[in-house]
Amino acid sequence: MAKRDYYKVLGVDKNANADDIKKAYRKAAIKYHPDKNPGDKEAEDKFKEAAEAYDVLSNPDKRARYDQFGHAGMNGGAGGFGGGGFGGGFSMEDIFRNFGDIFGGHFGGGFGGFGGFGGDSGQRVNRGSDLRIKVTLSLKEIVNGTTKKLKINKLTACDKCGGTGAKDSNSYNTCPTCGGSGRVTEIVNTFFGRTQTVTTCKHCGGEGKIITTPCDKCRGEGTVKAEEVVEVKIPAGVGEGMQLSVNGKGNAARHGGVNGDLLVLIEEQNDPDFTRDGNDLIYNLNITIPTAVLGGEVEVPTVDSKVKIKIEPGTHAGKILRLRGKGVPDLNGYGRGDQLIVIDITVPSKVTSEERKLFEQLADKPSFKKAESVKNQNIFDRMHNFFR
Ligand SMILES: [Zn+2]
Ligand SMILES: [Zn+2]
Repeated sequence: MAKRDYYKVLGVDKNANADDIKKAYRKAAIKYHPDKNPGDKEAEDKFKEAAEAYDVLSNPDKRARYDQFGHAGMNGGAGGFGGGGFGGGFSMEDIFRNFGDIFGGHFGGGFGGFGGFGGDSGQRVNRGSDLRIKVTLSLKEIVNGTTKKLKINKLTACDKCGGTGAKDSNSYNTCPTCGGSGRVTEIVNTFFGRTQTVTTCKHCGGEGKIITTPCDKCRGEGTVKAEEVVEVKIPAGVGEGMQLSVNGKGNAARHGGVNGDLLVLIEEQNDPDFTRDGNDLIYNLNITIPTAVLGGEVEVPTVDSKVKIKIEPGTHAGKILRLRGKGVPDLNGYGRGDQLIVIDITVPSKVTSEERKLFEQLADKPSFKKAESVKNQNIFDRMHNFFR
């Protein structure tokens, strides 16, 4: 559907001031308000159209952009309406949330509940609260994935009353406040005339009934404290700060209902050998001076086992070797990261007199006479080149 000109929508001219625009919107909002036009789709569209027009024209920045670019200036772009913007249109809740500004404080709250109409009918279902627990994992567990048995202190359904909180099925009265519906309808006098709002009954908490004789074990709560061991399967590749959610393993709900969730927060243990960098693992390898000069074979730990790697003759400190696929598996199954081996050369801080002599002899030889700088001298350049 082609968008109508915002000024035309509100019936104001291009030079209208903020007050004119507000007044015009107020008029349109009252005329097309859904409470005044129940079931009228056209009125609802007009109502939304007016809200959209007002949103733009009441904001000096948006209005200026609209004046310059028309509707084309309103779709996304820098400083546009962003993700939740007009792409999908205004929701009724958005519109009512802004009513406080236009009609005074009373309306913001009065219509806040609007979005709650329709959808759910009948009594409210209680939901237990979520539980949070931290789990510390070693690098090996992260690489291989693991199953943890976690001891949880939680509220579970009382076994004596089956979670109802009542002594037996005769221990109830229908809630006198809501007559058993769990909801109360309030008539509020508003700007638009009398408006109905439906809220959860405070007396029974939406349950529609009142317990007359509570269960003596849980004292009417329907829940008791208990310890439960929950097995949590942790996939390979998780990382510090991630949160896994185990459905229905949180607290039981009061008077029966749906359990909350168990939220498992992942903590990574420091590993003595490896530093994690995303899915790559960094390992610092020290080699001796003779190995650096002459080359050789060195054993290196990996997170799975050990491998022998070849050191080329003339290896400099700071060189990085890559063991493909020896890093952390990608959580989404996109292969595995690498192990990066950063070479350092061990320089002895003390030498024997014999070693001293040998080094002095060497120092005179042509290959040892001159220090030269390596290209990409610094480690960061080299890391950078490496990762490119
Ligand atoms: Zn009630
Ligand atoms: Zn009980």
